[in-house]
Amino acid sequence: MDLKEWFANRKKAADNSQSKQPLTNEEYCALWTQCFHCRELLYTRDLRSNLFVCPKCQYHFRIGAVDRIEQLADPGCFQEMDADLSSADPLGFVDTDAYKNRQDEASRKSGLKEAVVCGTGKIRGRDAAIGIMDFGHFGGSMGSVVGEKVTRLVEHALKHSLPLIVISSSGGARMQEGILSLMQMAKTSSALKSFSDAGLLYISVLSEPTFGGVTASFAMLGDFIIAEPGARIGFAGRRVIEQTIKQKLPADFQTAEYLLNHGQVDMVIERAKLADALGALIDLHQPSAPPKHSDAKDKSKQKVAAQSTPTRA
Ligand SMILES: [Zn+2]
Repeated sequence: MDLKEWFANRKKAADNSQSKQPLTNEEYCALWTQCFHCRELLYTRDLRSNLFVCPKCQYHFRIGAVDRIEQLADPGCFQEMDADLSSADPLGFVDTDAYKNRQDEASRKSGLKEAVVCGTGKIRGRDAAIGIMDFGHFGGSMGSVVGEKVTRLVEHALKHSLPLIVISSSGGARMQEGILSLMQMAKTSSALKSFSDAGLLYISVLSEPTFGGVTASFAMLGDFIIAEPGARIGFAGRRVIEQTIKQKLPADFQTAEYLLNHGQVDMVIERAKLADALGALIDLHQPSAPPKHSDAKDKSKQKVAAQSTPTRA
């Protein structure tokens, strides 16, 4: 055996010993995901290729902003805006932990600076301004930066006459920022009023869960309000309402289907069809070009009308 062969054999042996290492508990757990609804154990890779929808019971898992962009936007076209904005700590808020530490922890878990990712891109070939909330970052709560980013997105869409799509997933206002987080409801709503006055299209998509200040502002102001199947949508939580009114609420209370039956949302669309539906709605809203012969037709109509209008002497 020459030296070259000896090295090659040693490399092969090292590779074999590496590949035979048993998976750690963490690696093994990451391979499988249990459905929250039907308890089926699902292979995570299959679940991902099924857009994080349980193939057995159609439960729509919560997904982060990055996965959502991958599912909705045409590949490689999403341009993020205001990526560097992150919340300050205006009140110096401390509860069981300092707000600053909680922010750092949220960023570490989600890989995001804030609970919304905004930008422009194409959906099924149509240009759009897109905002996506991520419940995995601080419970998708709306602080001053989330409000600011959404407002800037609306203003950008208005300036460039783009259709606007916002996918909400939020626990509500961020209490660590007190009144500053509540002000975001008025700010985003006001920007959307200007957007609406310009006759532009805003589609709001509500995903599991959408609650509190986000529901009370931009999430429910869409020209079209679409919800994902099974998503829980409301202002206050079910338990709070039951304790306040001292009544038992229906089992499907605050679900997307319940809201559809009561006229609060326009459509419930499953995840696999969402991008197509958004593309079709944007198409419907495009002002169609007038037919070429319409001018001549209009002129002849005016002539006929002028001839038939009785004139007074
Ligand atoms: Zn399931």
